[in-house]
Amino acid sequence: MTNATDLILGRRVMTMIEDLAQHTDEPGRLTRLYLSKAHRKAAEATLRLMQEAGLDAHIDALGSVVGRIDGSHPDAPALLIGSHIDSVVDAGRYDGNLGVVLGIVVVEALRQQGLAPACPIEIVAFGDEENVRFPTNLSTSQALAGRFNPAWLDGRDQDGIALRDALIAFGGDPEGAAGLARDPARYRGYLEVHIEQGPLLEAKDLPVGIVSAINGITRARCSVTGEAGHAGTVPMSMRRDALAAVAEMIGIVERAGSTRTDTVATVGVAQVQPGAINVIPARVDFTLDARSPDDAVREAMVQDIVTECQAAAQRRGVDFTIEPFMESPATPMDKELIARLEGAVRSLGTEPFHLSSGAGHDAVAMAILCPSAMLFVRCKGGISHNPAESITVEDADAAARVLIEAVNRIAV
Ligand SMILES: [Zn+2]
Repeated sequence: MTNATDLILGRRVMTMIEDLAQHTDEPGRLTRLYLSKAHRKAAEATLRLMQEAGLDAHIDALGSVVGRIDGSHPDAPALLIGSHIDSVVDAGRYDGNLGVVLGIVVVEALRQQGLAPACPIEIVAFGDEENVRFPTNLSTSQALAGRFNPAWLDGRDQDGIALRDALIAFGGDPEGAAGLARDPARYRGYLEVHIEQGPLLEAKDLPVGIVSAINGITRARCSVTGEAGHAGTVPMSMRRDALAAVAEMIGIVERAGSTRTDTVATVGVAQVQPGAINVIPARVDFTLDARSPDDAVREAMVQDIVTECQAAAQRRGVDFTIEPFMESPATPMDKELIARLEGAVRSLGTEPFHLSSGAGHDAVAMAILCPSAMLFVRCKGGISHNPAESITVEDADAAARVLIEAVNRIAV
């Protein structure tokens, strides 16, 4: 962004980030799982920040912090701005928190300028985005979208604590989840700012990027079965080596992900049996994770992987099976909100850059409720889910200015 400023907004963002980063369940590193003591403290801190910014705020039945400010047309559909304040284990401080804090900073700035948005603005700090503690899927944002699954309440964490009991201990209300569903007619849209969690903006030397779509995902369990044998005595031509076959398949997966636009494909787990230095591998279980912003492209990619792996298995005399266990469609972001974000980015002197999101976000759930869009902020080295996560005060400032411009263009 070309306009030099004194970075007041960026500094304010960093102060709030610092404030929230104090709340952790593990001394010495940031871990803030859904409904933990640290989550409660962070929710209270967020509540305080919202109230200081002039928002009418509360912590809802599932632990999300929600703050609202009326616009000059109080009955107009509201604009939601948010992200999450839960974290992974040993997390960075910006993932999620940045989007919450930016929403608060924008409201603060508008009020300081004496500007009232035309429509009401609601800031939300969701609590269950990372889905680390309980077997849920974006439960707190799904609740706003009217998609809370009551079976989630019976899900247990690794200590055997049910979500329902953790929620009561937190001060929430398991029976209140259904009542959190919002009326889509009352919402103009949802904006989420998030660190990119990838290296593209840094490579392009850009502070922010506009998300075109959140990638759809296929996940599958695969197995290859060959035959064990003595690593010293079975000639190479007579082997049915399961791991050598999987090595070829990993190459197939890598090529399938690399030869298309915006796709990624990964083998993240491979377990070898029996797993001994002098035994030809008999069986390998491995995983496939394939993503694309375009569902048809993803489906074609997975089909190609299956066909080529079957052919490789046949050539090598091993058995190959694949069992998909998760299929999540892509979430395109709203074109009109994207156009508003483009205008906001341009007004600050930069050409808008579009990218897809490889990671899931609360915006996936919120897009069910209302038009949704996301702005990514450059993060150092593309690193996230890691204490080394880092953004600059300049980029935080740029993101705040883009968001203010976007709000001014949307809340009219
Ligand atoms: Zn996040």
